[in-house]
Amino acid sequence: MPLHIETPLIESRPLGLASGRTVLLKLDALQPAGSFKIRGIGAACEVHASRGARRFVSSSGGNAGIAVAHAGRRLAIPVTVVVPESTTARARQLIAQEGADLVVHGESWQEANEHALAMVGETDAFLHPFDDPLLWPGHATMIDEAARQGPRPDAVVLSVGGGGLLCGVVEGLRRNGWADVPIVAVETEGAASLQTSMRAGRRVALAAITSIATSLGAKQVCEQAFRHANERPIVTTTVTDAAAVKACLRFVDDHRLVVEPACGAALALAYDRAEVLAAHDCVLVIVCGGATATVAQLEAWATSLA
Ligand SMILES: *Cc1c(COP(=O)(O)O)cnc(C)c1O
Repeated sequence: MPLHIETPLIESRPLGLASGRTVLLKLDALQPAGSFKIRGIGAACEVHASRGARRFVSSSGGNAGIAVAHAGRRLAIPVTVVVPESTTARARQLIAQEGADLVVHGESWQEANEHALAMVGETDAFLHPFDDPLLWPGHATMIDEAARQGPRPDAVVLSVGGGGLLCGVVEGLRRNGWADVPIVAVETEGAASLQTSMRAGRRVALAAITSIATSLGAKQVCEQAFRHANERPIVTTTVTDAAAVKACLRFVDDHRLVVEPACGAALALAYDRAEVLAAHDCVLVIVCGGATATVAQLEAWATSLA
């Protein structure tokens, strides 16, 4: 039994009407632990467990850390998550409620990550949030399911942080005979590491992340994601934080699901009838989810960004 669940694929009438085309939603917000991350991280944790790992170590204060904590609890393997001081109380609580040891260290993720790497012993496994080939076949299972559940889409819309989701979806499309289905890769304006790299023609590290969509806040996409983006049909685009938050709040009313702005970024393209979708009659939107946002937080962001 894998640690992730098969999630529903539904046609969204509200998003379809807003965007003027057929919109299919892959509802990975329904995963245990609240995001698609458990697909790849769950699979990777099972591999490490079968190789005899005695502890899982993560440095993610977001959905990856929550997924590692969840996987460890289910596999009865202790988990240590090192997070920076900037990690919200809500994220800390979600990690702690999965039973993981939470270590708070350093001002930024870099410092927390160095601390985590330094504590990885011989019998420990370190779980990277996006840059690990062990993760991507797990993420690809969402496309295996979509291929069984619905029609071939004309495009797949997904959000990009470090590019692990992108690598998984590319692998899933390829192994289901959908390699030529274009991907529309969405980032928020202050976290556009993929778009910046595509425009520069090389993998660029952003100086800073200035978006509230912290789950998209990798300063640099992984090499494999950049390679895929150069080798297959893909369009990169951005939305504002305000548009992403507004999409989350509309989604609460339309589909009764709370997701992070990281996911709202992908939804915003459909809600705002983005020009990049014009050529596609039927789009599959990956509803990647995210557990760290609350309705109150989304409303506070909407007010402060207005
Ligand atoms: C991690 C995450 C992303 C981005 O995934 P990457 O693999 O880093 O590109 C998007 N949305 C949510 C909710 C996430 O947790």
